[in-house]
Amino acid sequence: MWKTVERLRCDKCGTPLIIGLGYRWNKNGTMGMRLSKDVKLVILDADIYERIFLYMEEALGLPIRHIVFEAVSNISRSVFEDMYKSIPGSMYFKRTWIGYHMTARLFYAMSSLVGYSRAEKVRLIPRSYSISVVENPYNIDLMSASIVGAHEFLDGIPYKHMLEAVGDNVYTVTAVVSGGKPDVSQRLEMEVVDTSEAPATLEKCRRCGVPRIVAERLAWNMVDGDITDRRTGVRVAFFAPGVVVSMFREMIKELGEEIPGIAVRCMRDWTLDNMGHFKSSHGDMTGEQDDFETVLRRYLLEFPSFGRGNPVSMEFGESKTRVVIENPYQEYLIAGTIQGLYEGLSKKACKVLPEKLKEGTFAFNIEY
Ligand SMILES: [Zn+2]
Repeated sequence: MWKTVERLRCDKCGTPLIIGLGYRWNKNGTMGMRLSKDVKLVILDADIYERIFLYMEEALGLPIRHIVFEAVSNISRSVFEDMYKSIPGSMYFKRTWIGYHMTARLFYAMSSLVGYSRAEKVRLIPRSYSISVVENPYNIDLMSASIVGAHEFLDGIPYKHMLEAVGDNVYTVTAVVSGGKPDVSQRLEMEVVDTSEAPATLEKCRRCGVPRIVAERLAWNMVDGDITDRRTGVRVAFFAPGVVVSMFREMIKELGEEIPGIAVRCMRDWTLDNMGHFKSSHGDMTGEQDDFETVLRRYLLEFPSFGRGNPVSMEFGESKTRVVIENPYQEYLIAGTIQGLYEGLSKKACKVLPEKLKEGTFAFNIEY
């Protein structure tokens, strides 16, 4: 089926038509699904979330994987709730045999579209259990969390899962009804905050509505369930920033104010490790003018196309740069990326201080 869907492409920009039909890019720098109003999405390198979780665990000396798991399964459930509430009658349809099984199929299809994996069901028994085969996942733990969340939407009761590796990057995920959810789960419910002032600069395809930068850079492989950034050759995926937003919120409450600093350092290190990719996608093509200002301007220019926020002003000075972004997908992660860019390109240390100007709007002050 995916081969056919993949062949149906926009004749103007070449993106698979289903992307423009399923997703929307907003004027305020965010993106999401057309049928799901509340859940924001962001396009990021597929290894980022795993890197953040490992880094936080190491820095804190505490396991946080269970927190991440609950945040991802909550988001997976919310996406479906949001989507079905917007289609009259669909919550009722979901309770019928055919509606139930179609919803499960939709979940597997969506996991391929957003670059998570190629997945299909082996068995599905309502209010009891399911077995899925998952191939080529961007991260098998987080993919399992998405499966658990989808089940919880289907049946309205808590699920847990078991995992078995059955081949090279191939797994079976068995989801079974569980007695209840961990306490942390409820606290990880997401909050929706959006502001919209200056509309983002976003050049979209007039036929399918996909931003030009996305059409040029991303290559969808729906058969294998992955997306590649053509310029860097790196696997990317659509993530819900609500996962890290709610996770950091809870961690700050429990573990204190050291969390933002750890998150910023994590993204700074990740950026330094990936400096070659930043230079090849945002630098001067000759490699001679890969200076901070050029690379940062080009990096921020594509923010709205990737759902990362809407940069509304940039001021470059002798000892300070200030960037204001509306609806940043997550302020610590952006601060860390900017710090990594400065330090990697200028070979000098700097400090980046996110400053909340108002709900949903942050200034990033880079001092050097
Ligand atoms: Zn198009």
